[in-house]
Amino acid sequence: EARAVALPDGGDLGTGQVLVQIEDRTKAHRAEAQRRDFLANASHELRTPLASVLGYVETLMGHAKDDPDAQERFLAIIYRQGQRMQRLVEDLMSLNRIEMNEHIRPDTLCDPVQIGREVCAALAPLAEDTGASLHCDLPAEGTILIGDQGQIYQVMTNLVSNALRYGGAGAMVRVHLAEADPSFPNMLGITVSDTGPGIPRDQLHRLTERFFRVSATQNRDKGGTGLGLAIVKHILARHRGELRITSIPGEGSDFTVWLPRDDSVAKPGDSALAAR
Ligand code: ADP
Repeated sequence: EARAVALPDGGDLGTGQVLVQIEDRTKAHRAEAQRRDFLANASHELRTPLASVLGYVETLMGHAKDDPDAQERFLAIIYRQGQRMQRLVEDLMSLNRIEMNEHIRPDTLCDPVQIGREVCAALAPLAEDTGASLHCDLPAEGTILIGDQGQIYQVMTNLVSNALRYGGAGAMVRVHLAEADPSFPNMLGITVSDTGPGIPRDQLHRLTERFFRVSATQNRDKGGTGLGLAIVKHILARHRGELRITSIPGEGSDFTVWLPRDDSVAKPGDSALAAR
């Protein structure tokens, strides 16, 4: 919602100046609305498990006091809801950290192929739990890029764990190098493919929005916070990387992370190199 601002010097100022002011206002309005939405969403996501915890604790202190079976069941629920709140708080903190450092360029070296392999190893137990099969088809030799090892690890973890959770039992999840693509010159692509349910086409562009879920209630039960892909997007933006998502409902999805190769990110004397 834009509003023209009366400038103190009257009509003599160029229209350009008025235009700038209108734009700034619109931007400020939008940022403010986004902040409000974000807070409302975050509070709502925390309130649900918190209400559940309080409800069960009350029952435990009341009529379940002498019922060991009920106690065991309720404690398990409280534990799960506590974990859910913990994941949410951790994701919120990650998002905040990334946003605060957005202007700082990553200045460490990382090997996304090596990271991909480590993530597959770390998520093998999740594959067991979900009944999806996980295949790591990455070459032995990696490529060194300039990037924050921990953050790229988080990107790959979010994508592979999504594929495993949303792909579900029987799905095949594969991590492999993407074929070179002229739209991403001088970049290396790693793809996480799954043979899961896929994502409706009209929702693809919303996936990286904070708290967006394709099927809200159903997917909340899969343990997601709704922040995973928002975090991926922010981290990649910091690395001048790209995320490309293709999906066919009923067949599966491909999430490809593109990262600039060493030579395209920094030249000798560049701050990224000079820092080392
Ligand atoms: P969450 O933390 O809930 O997993 P994300 O931001 O990681 O949130 O993902 C947003 C939504 O995108 C998910 O809730 C899910 O609906 C959908 N999604 C993500 N990855 C996949 C996938 N591989 N297959 C199908 N749906 C997916």
